[in-house]
Amino acid sequence: MIVKEKEVKDYLTKSKIGEYAINPYVGCPHQCRYCYASFMKRFTNHPEQWGEFIDIKLCNKKIDTRKIVGKNVFMSSVTDCYNPYEANYNITRNILEQLVGVDCILQLSTKNKLILRDLDLLKQMKNVSVAMSVNTLDENFRKDMDKASSIKERLETLKTLYENGIYTILFMSPIFIGITEWKAIIEETKDYIHEYWFEDLNLRGAYKYDILNYISEKYPKVYPIFERIYIKGDRQELFTMDNEIRQYCDKNKINYSDYFHHEEVIRNRQNRKLGKNNK
Ligand code: SF4
Repeated sequence: MIVKEKEVKDYLTKSKIGEYAINPYVGCPHQCRYCYASFMKRFTNHPEQWGEFIDIKLCNKKIDTRKIVGKNVFMSSVTDCYNPYEANYNITRNILEQLVGVDCILQLSTKNKLILRDLDLLKQMKNVSVAMSVNTLDENFRKDMDKASSIKERLETLKTLYENGIYTILFMSPIFIGITEWKAIIEETKDYIHEYWFEDLNLRGAYKYDILNYISEKYPKVYPIFERIYIKGDRQELFTMDNEIRQYCDKNKINYSDYFHHEEVIRNRQNRKLGKNNK
């Protein structure tokens, strides 16, 4: 792992996801095979593979908290603010210390139990939620996909956050059709989750064939579905699964947000703006 410290002018950046984003690091040692953030490598002049470098952002300037009053602040969109380096560098913790008492809508997203270290600060926040990604209950599949906390640790973390009054989001992403046991995950966790987010797997990055080869080798029975969806472009089975999830959640009064077909939604919106769609 190539570790570098890097001075930055400001931790706060304008974001499309929330109104502001804070990414305390560049790169992410969690090395998820499907990482959408890996496109960041292009903008950072890193010759190393994604997951093999990390820049630790150091910033002397205090966060201008006046800017974020009443705004959404998302930590973090292109790294994991609780990656293992945070245990020594405390960058995320120092940022949270500056945000205590600020009237912003703070949302943290992580796959690491290290977030519990900062429970004392999170409990002081006026409006905070924590999203943790869980897309399987199978630890072998998890290990094949990332180097973050185990599933057991993630579920325990969400439970502890819930018990301490923090709004918990289980981000079921990316959903691997035929592998992600979405119903079992909901059943296992519904007592301590305030909200579920669902998102299907997008294979648009350089990792597409790595994932497809993996599925073909480890899940040969599921591979034909992946072939239909991700090679032939027939997304019918995804629509069906999406409907099943919605119906199940509606029936069982599960609070959820559905980010399936995110790309189509965005594309349709763009087409409407460009007048390509006469609806
Ligand atoms: S934790 Fe997030 S940023 Fe880090 S490798 Fe995984 S998907 Fe990418």
